[in-house]
Amino acid sequence: MFSAIFKTMKRYPVPDEIKAFAKVFAENGYSLYIVGGAVRDHFLGTANSDYDFCTDAQPQQVVEMFRKVIPTGIKHGTVTVLLRGASYEVTTFRSESDYSDGRHPDNVTYITNLHEDLSRRDFTINALAADCIQGNVTDDFDGLGDLGKGLVRAIGNPRERFKEDALRLMRLARFCSKLDFKPEAETFQAAKELAPTIANVSQERIYDELSKILMTKVPSVGLSILENTGILAIVLPELTACRAIKQNKVGACDVLEHTYNCVDAAAANGYSLTVRLAALLHDIGKPSTMAFNQYGIMRFHGHDVQGSKMAKDVLRRLKCSNRTIDDVGLVIAEHMTHYTPNWTDGAVKRFIRRVGRQNLDMLFELQRCDQIASTGAPNAEEYEAFMKRITELENQPMNLKDLAVTGEDLAKAGIPKSKTMGEVLGKLLEMVVDYPTLNDKETLIKQALVIYNQMTAV
Ligand code: ATP
Ligand code: MG
Repeated sequence: MFSAIFKTMKRYPVPDEIKAFAKVFAENGYSLYIVGGAVRDHFLGTANSDYDFCTDAQPQQVVEMFRKVIPTGIKHGTVTVLLRGASYEVTTFRSESDYSDGRHPDNVTYITNLHEDLSRRDFTINALAADCIQGNVTDDFDGLGDLGKGLVRAIGNPRERFKEDALRLMRLARFCSKLDFKPEAETFQAAKELAPTIANVSQERIYDELSKILMTKVPSVGLSILENTGILAIVLPELTACRAIKQNKVGACDVLEHTYNCVDAAAANGYSLTVRLAALLHDIGKPSTMAFNQYGIMRFHGHDVQGSKMAKDVLRRLKCSNRTIDDVGLVIAEHMTHYTPNWTDGAVKRFIRRVGRQNLDMLFELQRCDQIASTGAPNAEEYEAFMKRITELENQPMNLKDLAVTGEDLAKAGIPKSKTMGEVLGKLLEMVVDYPTLNDKETLIKQALVIYNQMTAV
């Protein structure tokens, strides 16, 4: 029914500034189309102003038509035109004949035929093109029909498409997740058969697609497709190992299902990619730490620390930025730290110091997702009580720089600059964390001498 509706509205509302941009091409005898995501999403009723353009003009000809053109992806025939404060990414129609490595086309041949250009694209729903003057839509592979059916279908022979570029295996999962679509049966079957070829794809490209899957509204849709095609076992075997670990959590009978729920909770709350990555990897330490206590109850002692180490290894393997690796590692290591009102002020301050004030939100977001996925609801009481204590104490001295004395002061008082002086300062700090009223210069110098004399007494 939907497909019939789509077929009757084959016009794309081209914004005026794009029409003006396209006129330059027309005046020079070339055509310009919006292709891919923007057209697809328009027919789904979703805004997408991330335009990809294609044209029969060769990159050199585009360069000659405009004053400011940057050769952003010239190897693939892509240039970026800067015009009246906007930037337009334009790719010349091309055919890519052979992909002997399953990653890069062996050669890019520029062509002048739109149909041929559309036929080398991945999925029918991504091969919709709208001409930029009239808005007429070209739909040579019944992409509109598949949009109506909610299917992601490879163009032509799916095995060939995946063999050409194995990243398309992950793109299949990404578009299903983004649009809440199903993979078309033969496309899915081909993805299963060719799953091992994902090993040919660079870790950077895999990470990029994985991030895009995590940033969709319900990432578990895409993650399940990765799992069911066998791709997840190759890309993230640490996660598939969690399938075997049975446990009783709300709506999840094993650790991987719980993980999916946790990632979905992060997405439902609009949390950052870092938190979503942490949600994805937070329990990967469970399979290797699983043990049974004397009552036969399953425990995962130390899975936080083990998981943090493993998550950092995974993200290093995926060539992720150091910042993300550190952040994810930190919050996973701390995800089992739960506040109780009997924490002393010193314990609260040591926690703030250990995690870093700037990282607390990230940690609490992960814990919130874990709680939602474990019990169905976040523990708001614990959070509020903890935040209250943190706010009360966060301005109290906690770091060496907050001490009322410096190394210089201790040197003047007769303590030689040495490793021992560093240890004395450390002890003063711990004292001040527990007893903040002692943080005055005179008291600290006196106490420093006591500590120093104790340490150096034979
Ligand atoms: P999004 O809205 O998420 O950006 P998109 O469809 O625009 O979705 P892009 O990755 O920006 O996706 O790619 C733009 C278009 O280029 C796609 O719609 C598709 O036609 C084509 N394309 C991109 N990557 C590939 C690929 N690996 N194989 C084949 N075609 C591709
Ligand atoms: Mg796009």
